[in-house]
Amino acid sequence: MASSADIFAPGFQSRPYWWEAYEPPEPGEDALPRHADVVIVGGGYTGVCCALTLREAGIDAVVLEAGRPGQGASTRSGGQMSGGVNVQKKALAAVGESPEQRETRLAARLRDAAASMRYVESLIERHRIDCGWQKTGRLTTMWLPQHYESWKHRMDQLNACTGSNARMIPPEELGREIGSTVYHGAALIEQAGHLHPARLYGGMLAAARAAGARVQGNTRVRAIERTTGGHEVHTTRGTIRAQQVVIATNGYTGPDLGDLHRKVVPIATYMIATEELPPDLAASILPTNRAVSESRRVVNHYRLSPDGRRLLFGGRARFTPASEDTTARLLYRAMLKRFPQLAGTRITHSWGGNVAMTLDAMPHIGGSDGLHYALGCNGSGVAMMSYLGHSVGRKIALRSRDPINAFDMGEIPGHPFYFGNTWFLFAIGSWYQARDAYDHWRAR
Ligand SMILES: Cc1cc2nc3c(=O)[nH]c(=O)nc-3n(C[C@H](O)[C@H](O)[C@H](O)COP(=O)(O)OP(=O)(O)OC[C@H]3O[C@@H](n4cnc5c(N)ncnc54)[C@H](O)[C@@H]3O)c2cc1C
Repeated sequence: MASSADIFAPGFQSRPYWWEAYEPPEPGEDALPRHADVVIVGGGYTGVCCALTLREAGIDAVVLEAGRPGQGASTRSGGQMSGGVNVQKKALAAVGESPEQRETRLAARLRDAAASMRYVESLIERHRIDCGWQKTGRLTTMWLPQHYESWKHRMDQLNACTGSNARMIPPEELGREIGSTVYHGAALIEQAGHLHPARLYGGMLAAARAAGARVQGNTRVRAIERTTGGHEVHTTRGTIRAQQVVIATNGYTGPDLGDLHRKVVPIATYMIATEELPPDLAASILPTNRAVSESRRVVNHYRLSPDGRRLLFGGRARFTPASEDTTARLLYRAMLKRFPQLAGTRITHSWGGNVAMTLDAMPHIGGSDGLHYALGCNGSGVAMMSYLGHSVGRKIALRSRDPINAFDMGEIPGHPFYFGNTWFLFAIGSWYQARDAYDHWRAR
């Protein structure tokens, strides 16, 4: 077995594997316009999809990105895409809500979550985005036997609301899907798969720019001030007046943008890429090439690379700031626990990025008086955040005051004692990790 010292392949890189094929472009130094109908803060999927929709409606849109366009989570993710699965898992009952009301609310969210995947598929098709989208299906692998039972009860509603074509895979049949013995069965969602997230971003950015959107990098928004008839957006490169502003900063939302940073908790999440594997070894791990995500509290997720030759393995390796070397070692250990046959395989890339969690575990769109937001991916935003950016753009174009979809649900809930400092994550994350390990040991 490789010791922690020799897990790194020669030429190992602390940056996303995806950037070998598409790297976030240089920001450029174009002069900032002095005025725009809509200024969008944050240049990831959410921001560029919002800009694309606005431009298609003939509305002037400028995206301001603090660094290089796409440098946030959008070019760093695992590239797994599905509609609806996570929403159902996290749909907690609201205070004072009857079971019927909860079911109705959940069904509406599931339908919109399914629409999010269709939206991204339609963009890929319409703009001929070469991002290796493969509808291979996605497995949620069960960490505990009781997870299998609870997922079984969700299948009917999931299929009825999303058309996901989902079914349970019992433990004795799981060997056909995955070369690991640590799981207690799985749920298979056929209407799901994986893509190259950075190439998807590149295609979306090109589509938004071709439609006339200006996407300006190296421009951090420092403050947003309401004025009569609009807003003044103060940036590191000057001030822009805008009638409306959209905040699309997800896991990178800072105190510059008002109170929102108290509503979305940034959590770092990490990935590694293995060196190219012999074809029979790659096939022994994921013979059906599905995307995989686990039912644990602290989730690990993985898939093969678009060419099927590497394993890309991710998770919340650490809850305090850590180097890519450290997180690579932690993820490597987790990978070998699931796939001991990978012992001796080396890692070529290790990277991380931020996702944004909310107290109700739901993504949100909302806002008032011309200041909108789309935030809170809760770890899963390739489809959802793209769709929410598009939805905010539609809402502005339609001049609508009504909710545009089931995620347009008023204020993001806050916590009176959360001020944007994430000191507590270490304690909670470590406790969840310990519980995952203990429960799994007991179930064997
Ligand atoms: C390692 C990892 C794996 C993931 N895997 C998956 C997956 O397999 N499937 C899935 O669905 N989701 C996954 N996600 C989540 C997904 O990547 C995100 O939900 C999605 O990219 C969010 O897009 P976004 O545009 O909202 O935010 P981002 O892409 O993060 O963009 C926000 C941008 O805002 C900019 N910004 C912040 N503050 C300012 C400011 N003041 N002024 C100007 N700009 C600012 C930042 O620089 C950043 O570029 C993963 C995320 C990570 C990090």
